[in-house]
Amino acid sequence: MRIFTASLATETNTFSPVPTDRASFEMAFYAGPGKHPDTPTLCSSPIVALRRRADAEVLTVIEGTATWAEPGGLVQRQTYEALRDEILGQLKAALPVDAVILGLHGAMVAQGYDDCEGDLLERMRAMVGSEVVIASELDPHSHLTPKRVAAANILAAFLEFPHTDFYERGEHVVELGLAAARGEIKPVISTFDCRMIQVLPTSREPMRSFVDRIKALHGTDGILSVSVIHGFMAADVPEMGTRIMVVTDNDRPRGDALAERLGRELYDLREKTAMTMLSAADGIERALAVRAAHRDKPAVIADVWDNPGGGVPGDGTVVLRELLARGVGNVGVATIWDPIAVTFCLAAGEGAVIDLRFGGKAGPQAGEPVDARVTVLKAVEEGWQSFGPSRVTLGPSAVVRIEGTEVDIILNTNRTQTFEPDIFSNLGVDPMSKDILLVKSTNHFYAGFAPIAAEIIYVTAPSSYPSSPAKTDYRKLNRPIWPRVANPWRDAGG
Ligand SMILES: [Zn+2]
Repeated sequence: MRIFTASLATETNTFSPVPTDRASFEMAFYAGPGKHPDTPTLCSSPIVALRRRADAEVLTVIEGTATWAEPGGLVQRQTYEALRDEILGQLKAALPVDAVILGLHGAMVAQGYDDCEGDLLERMRAMVGSEVVIASELDPHSHLTPKRVAAANILAAFLEFPHTDFYERGEHVVELGLAAARGEIKPVISTFDCRMIQVLPTSREPMRSFVDRIKALHGTDGILSVSVIHGFMAADVPEMGTRIMVVTDNDRPRGDALAERLGRELYDLREKTAMTMLSAADGIERALAVRAAHRDKPAVIADVWDNPGGGVPGDGTVVLRELLARGVGNVGVATIWDPIAVTFCLAAGEGAVIDLRFGGKAGPQAGEPVDARVTVLKAVEEGWQSFGPSRVTLGPSAVVRIEGTEVDIILNTNRTQTFEPDIFSNLGVDPMSKDILLVKSTNHFYAGFAPIAAEIIYVTAPSSYPSSPAKTDYRKLNRPIWPRVANPWRDAGG
């Protein structure tokens, strides 16, 4: 069998002021055909899973391009079209194939393209014809459009958030794709629109049990795969929202019924799924109390909406300003994105004391820039952090300490959310020596920081992220969804 594989992925926040271009992909992750590393990335695991399969059975795997850009604003039209055409050209050269198995994210939006993945899959379908299997892994923070469902035979998303199962689900897609190519199964996709948008972390109840029940359905009664598409609220696209997707072995009525049953269950859980979030002031109050009671571990404050992983710049200063205003003197901050300030720190050199303006430059929503006299504790050509088995670059980076305090702030050049405590220690800041650690992430930091935290405190502070979907100015959304309307079933006539 001949299998073509490739990966094209990013998560587009259409409200973000940070444009996404070719350089954004090349800076974050770009591997040409055959150049993919041995370890998988978040969205490219089908490539690695296929490689491992090819070693064990008779399989010819033709690898195309794999690339990922850190979430940001709209993808430049020329960038999307060039990457799409690069992969389509690779597929054309690989023909004939028995299956196309892809690693897509599912929330890429480019100038003039609300549904990049639907566009790519439709063009692939036109090229390979109706008999070739097309399968893809997706991130649940995506948009399940009719166009991509019509063009694909198999789609499956990560079930966990944090996405700890991305490789496992990549193997799952490969398994189903190969079985379908051998003619052993006839996959059919059923979907159900939950008419809602919400944050659905699976590290806590009630989503924990919901996902465990979904996992147990796999392989029973002709059910090949079940996914929850959480949706991605930071995108103004017609199909934005939560959906259930069921893949059956040629049993549409059963798939439709299961998707609807799970979708209605999830709708009923909608007000109980999100983490408890405090204001910046209350969160700091809580952190100080926690730290007073636990002198051996820092309190960890997550600034959940100033998260570059959701596409915002990540240069917010609101929580830091509040900490400084209260005179909290021993804090580690990871990170504030500020390429200009990093350049100044590198030029001044380690040990220099300078007057520095940092943060708050990309827009007005996430707070004013901070002006302070700082000591440059560290200035390096590349900072980095772990994310499970992979290494995430911070680009050129610096650590500055605000005069008269032990408030140490990591400034970075390559936008990334905070994943693990080694983001501090790699730059010489001992996270255990701090009263409070301030991180920028919604929930992916949880696995790394929970073991060292006296407590994790989720804080909702202003940023350019559209975190209140009831109020967000969506212009393209094509139907009423909760919480924009109290009862979308009645208001939609359903
Ligand atoms: Zn995601």
